[in-house]
Amino acid sequence: MIHQGSCHCGRIAFEADTEIETVMECNCSHCARKGYLLHFMPREKLRLTTPEANLSTYTFNKHAIKHRFCEICGCAPFGEAVDPKRGHTVALNVRCIPALDLVTLKVKQVDGRSL
Ligand SMILES: [Zn+2]
Repeated sequence: MIHQGSCHCGRIAFEADTEIETVMECNCSHCARKGYLLHFMPREKLRLTTPEANLSTYTFNKHAIKHRFCEICGCAPFGEAVDPKRGHTVALNVRCIPALDLVTLKVKQVDGRSL
């Protein structure tokens, strides 16, 4: 299924070819502040429909994950990193997919704060 998502102002927009059933909610200092609900998928299944240059990037800790966000409206649609096992992986913030009914999703709580 193709899901269409974007930041609030539309400067970052994407199509994600994936099935979204379970999402991850993490309580670490970064995820909790942004309120992410994350779905993991291969990077090649995410197609940007706006220029790559519109992505701003935040990194912290080991600076391995590129947390992408829009510098105009502040929304953070996804993060990406190269995982040794899974390859180039995206953590999609499903809150940026307006047509997705979030109450139908299973939410897996991850205790990232204790890791
Ligand atoms: Zn924006």
